[in-house]
Amino acid sequence: MTAPQSMKYGRVRNYYGGNFVESQTSNWLDVTSPIDGALLSQVPMSTTAELDAAVASAKAAFDGWSKTTIKERVQVFFRYRYLLEKYFDELTALVAEENGKTWDEAKAEVEKSIELTEFACSMPQLVSGEILEVSKGVECRVEHFPLGVVASIVPFNFPLMVPNWTMPNALVLGNTMIMKPSELVPLSSQRMAEILKEAGLPDGVFNVVNGGREVVEGICDHDGVEAVSFVGSTKVARLVYQRSTNALKRCVALGGAKNHLFVLPDANPAMTATNVAASMSGCAGQRCMAASAMLAVGNVDPIIDQICTEAKNIIPGKNLGAVISREAKERIENYISEAERDGAKVLVDGRGATVDGKENGTYVGPTVIDYVTPEMSVAKEEIFGPVISIMRTKTLEEAVEIENANPYGNAAAVFTQSGGLARYVMEHASAGMIGVNIGVPVPREPFSFGGWNESRFGASDITGKSSIEFWTKLKKTTTKWNPESRTNWMS
Ligand code: NAD
Repeated sequence: MTAPQSMKYGRVRNYYGGNFVESQTSNWLDVTSPIDGALLSQVPMSTTAELDAAVASAKAAFDGWSKTTIKERVQVFFRYRYLLEKYFDELTALVAEENGKTWDEAKAEVEKSIELTEFACSMPQLVSGEILEVSKGVECRVEHFPLGVVASIVPFNFPLMVPNWTMPNALVLGNTMIMKPSELVPLSSQRMAEILKEAGLPDGVFNVVNGGREVVEGICDHDGVEAVSFVGSTKVARLVYQRSTNALKRCVALGGAKNHLFVLPDANPAMTATNVAASMSGCAGQRCMAASAMLAVGNVDPIIDQICTEAKNIIPGKNLGAVISREAKERIENYISEAERDGAKVLVDGRGATVDGKENGTYVGPTVIDYVTPEMSVAKEEIFGPVISIMRTKTLEEAVEIENANPYGNAAAVFTQSGGLARYVMEHASAGMIGVNIGVPVPREPFSFGGWNESRFGASDITGKSSIEFWTKLKKTTTKWNPESRTNWMS
């Protein structure tokens, strides 16, 4: 199959052994911009032989890379960080174009990638030795060793940031990596590979294999891969976790979310309204930290009115980006219609949104749905669009019960002026990341990112200090230099 002439970029290539290689597959998918439907590129559904070649290249590079000191490895990432700054605007434009984000949202993604790299550059300080004289003349020391070839499978909603959740930490810690980008947004990962090469990363240390389900399954089953990190929907996270642990690999698989915001009557109305509206609509609601359900405790009608006012000021194509595809737009709009049919009241309706001059873009306007009840699909399921479903409760206990019954557990937030009530939600919400008066409670570096329940399978978080445990194995060495000094049975 030959590439169409009209695409803006060339076809996406795989990257292994330090070379960009055109796939031999006959199966290519179009990559289009959600902003206006323009054809950007085509992405290959790579073959098993191509995955094998990438794993072989990562395996060959492991020995040399893992034997350099961590201080040397970090030097590459100081240069990588500098290049992210150098190409800041170009990367921002690419993320916006392939994902559909606004300029400011795409910019934040590049800024966050820089912050993640800075954390990786601090790794020598974090993994510097633990050593203790445990008995007279007997010392124990602990060292972190890399695992080998590891894989990172990533979703569409953060084409640059999520790959940077895993890549810098895993590589600085001495591993080599196969990255499997989302087939919907493969261009940022390809650019990341080019930048790493320019930063001086040795060939084979970082590799990219494009594709979909078959490549993911190939990674989970591959004898040459030691660990798999996954970020995406819960349905696929569960499959990847089961499949890769069944093949005796280490795995952390982050899944979907249904984040609840508790709004209490004593909340600051202006701050709450701004935060709720921004959380539900930022990145067109396509964030695993987005507010999706709001628990209105008692009479918070004035705050709901302000949320609607805020929402009406969020304009598709201006300060609201596009959703990823036509199918996504249809799915989100169907959720809204279903809620309406089931008796909920749509206060602000984003269905049918269009942007002048971008008629082929896939936009959904901000949507506020009131009088949602816990059994409705908009209350239970991840919508992944700029939609907030308001459920009204008489008490905070009732609200907590609703939040706890949801199978996800990524984030929850409470809006109140009362420390005691905030503390109650912090203690009782069943989620890994909690916000107090903040709508998107992402723990910034050095804190780690990861949810609970069906929002994460596996023992560790994916970023921050927790990632050190995931990407390394510990060697514990006990030494005794004065055999004559035995004092008791433990020395
Ligand atoms: P997705 O699960 O559809 O895809 C994620 C990755 O899995 C992609 O690389 C894709 O190619 C691959 N994949 C898709 N179907 C597969 C299958 N059947 N078998 C094997 N691999 C498959 O997710 P998405 O639509 O790209 O991303 C959105 C989802 O990601 C949302 O649910 C969102 O909440 C979640 N997400 C979670 C976090 C988090 O930190 N918990 C962060 C970002 C996104």
